[in-house]
Amino acid sequence: MCDIIWCKKEVGGKPCNTVNYLDPYTFWNWEGKVNCAECKTVYYIHMIQGFNYKGPEERPGEKPDTSPLYADKPLEGYRNYYPGVEGRTRPYQCLPRHIYLGKADMVKFSIRGKPLRGWRPQPPSAGIAGQFPYKWDIQKLSPEVWQEYQEKIKKGEVKEW
Ligand SMILES: [Zn+2]
Repeated sequence: MCDIIWCKKEVGGKPCNTVNYLDPYTFWNWEGKVNCAECKTVYYIHMIQGFNYKGPEERPGEKPDTSPLYADKPLEGYRNYYPGVEGRTRPYQCLPRHIYLGKADMVKFSIRGKPLRGWRPQPPSAGIAGQFPYKWDIQKLSPEVWQEYQEKIKKGEVKEW
């Protein structure tokens, strides 16, 4: 689901009536200026958690920070602009904005302090796809994690429950 800017700017005596789609990954928490794909009117918006907190407000003469990914005209048979139309829509790069690109948490120990294998790189001795067949001989195969584990035991950070 995404928010839209339904552009009502008068162009050549009739409203623009273009729906500019604010794709959620890009605009979820976003403040800036975005253009209408059709008439290129620049709108300021401030979105917080997907909610349009401020705007759209017209900003005549200002440059947009970005463009919608897609826009169409429901009143004209859904004539549309696909992604990547120069000066109108943004190219589709299959990626959310960098701040949403996240990084997996590397977990070496469970909440009870027991060793886990949710980290990388796994040692080459782990074999294909990091599978230690049947038994993970942690002391031999991951000596640093074993060392850390011993420290945790000493500090009383390993619990059964
Ligand atoms: Zn427009």
